Amino acid sequence: MATSPKIAIIGAGLGGLTASIYLARTGARVTVYEKNDHPGGKAGNIHGNGFRFDTGPSLLTLPFVLQDIFTFAGKNIEDYLTIEKLNILCKYFYPDGSILNAYAESGAFAGEIERVSGDTASQVQRYLRYCKTIFDRTADLFLFNDFRQLKNIFRSSSLKTLLKLYQIDPFRTMHRANASFFTDPKIIQLFDRYATYNGSDPYKVPATLNIIQHVEYNLGGFIVREGIYEIPRTLMNIARELGVEFQCNTDITEILYKDKTITAIRSHDKTVEYNAVISNVDAGYTYSYLLEDKKGKDARRYFQQEPSSSALVFYWGIKGTIKQLETHNIFFSKNYTSEFDAIFNRHQCPDDPTIYVYISSRFCEDDAPPGHENWFVMINTPYNSGQDWESETQRLRKIILEKLSSSLRTNIESKIVFERTLTPVSIEKQTGSLYGSLYGISSNSRFAAFLRQPNRSRDYRGLYFCGGSAHPGGGMPLVMLSGKLTAELVTKDLQLTS
Ligand SMILES: Cc1cc2nc3c(=O)[nH]c(=O)nc-3n(C[C@H](O)[C@H](O)[C@H](O)COP(=O)(O)OP(=O)(O)OC[C@H]3O[C@@H](n4cnc5c(N)ncnc54)[C@H](O)[C@@H]3O)c2cc1C
Repeated sequence: MATSPKIAIIGAGLGGLTASIYLARTGARVTVYEKNDHPGGKAGNIHGNGFRFDTGPSLLTLPFVLQDIFTFAGKNIEDYLTIEKLNILCKYFYPDGSILNAYAESGAFAGEIERVSGDTASQVQRYLRYCKTIFDRTADLFLFNDFRQLKNIFRSSSLKTLLKLYQIDPFRTMHRANASFFTDPKIIQLFDRYATYNGSDPYKVPATLNIIQHVEYNLGGFIVREGIYEIPRTLMNIARELGVEFQCNTDITEILYKDKTITAIRSHDKTVEYNAVISNVDAGYTYSYLLEDKKGKDARRYFQQEPSSSALVFYWGIKGTIKQLETHNIFFSKNYTSEFDAIFNRHQCPDDPTIYVYISSRFCEDDAPPGHENWFVMINTPYNSGQDWESETQRLRKIILEKLSSSLRTNIESKIVFERTLTPVSIEKQTGSLYGSLYGISSNSRFAAFLRQPNRSRDYRGLYFCGGSAHPGGGMPLVMLSGKLTAELVTKDLQLTS
């Protein structure tokens, strides 16, 4: 009897974990190599002084993508995770003192916009219908499938999209489109913010990305009551139950090939042969360090693209409770144009950054000691191009504390009892994302969706990519879809049975 094919997955991020589960039942022998002692990658976990923090993602959207993985594995998601829809998606604090609650219920949200701004509820409803149209026209082709496969392009829904291209709004920027629906700069800023969900600039990214607002406002934003880290932890346990082998604390140093066909992977001086290798590591990192190839077709294309933005995160254990805050909060900058000009054109951290504050202890009381809260405080930054992150961290810490203290009318610094930080440099060190970019390449170019790393390499037979830097893109649901699409390609190419 022929031996079953061997598949290596490099990285136990959400994409790699998903791919491992979809491949587990094919009869192939699947091994996941992870350089850290835990899974999750950017969706990690830190503890200290009685506090627990999710290190990266905080808001779950499109939960059915996660649900499908459990169903495929023959598991009931409710036995593992408690996923709940948020009633208030985010609380927005503006520099002029106004506050807006983004209610999940669209009527209440539209009413809130009318209350706070000069724009009307009917404008909001019209806008959300427009975002839905983009989703309906693009999701099937660009998110849930691999648009590079001819069979997907020639489906009638795809042909309709191509014939009605104007409906997906690719020719103007997100900001231009938003400014055509609303007059109040506060509301335009609110909807422009969604460009940052994949590390892009609202003044450059095509308006097609307004699909994200549909996902959040029409389909909903969710929390995982046990904390986001429970997602990768559970996926790893399920994959193990299905027979996937995990080798943690194993840093893969090279992907080996002969005549452009993948043969093996190497971890320092140990080499193991494989029929297929899936890199869940950032594509830029894979080309730079694991293949040392910047000349192949995919690599050349990849490096022509602008990296996505990165982030500076403070994990603060806070004594007391700040009642004005919700689970997710945004403190907007005064001048959004200047903020993004700093990040994407001048490659500097903004002097007046928009600040995101996420408090998981609001719904998971074990995440902080009694009478305390765990604050995840994040700003968008440029990717690492050699800035002095130590001094930038100190400078921005001061700016952030001043802004939060004045908006919340209380001295925040005096309440900090625990502190850790995450910079673009530590993001690269911990997860292998080149330059600390959160999502691989930005979507600032109109063609970014087409230039993103495909799930199947066009240069090396037997090499595949999944995760935030590969198709269909970054963010939790998309990287899980990426893992699924990649597993489907491997299953087909190795003629496995799913
Ligand atoms: C601060 C922050 C905030 C975010 N907020 C959100 C949010 O609110 N909502 C959302 O949906 N998304 C958010 N994201 C993005 C989301 O976390 C990512 O898109 C997603 O988790 C990436 O998954 P991935 O599969 O690409 O793998 P990654 O998380 O990039 O993991 C890659 C894995 O590969 C491992 N690895 C790297 N090199 C090697 C090697 N040589 N050998 C072996 N293993 C290796 C790494 O250790 C890591 O475990 C955020 C990210 C960050 C950092």
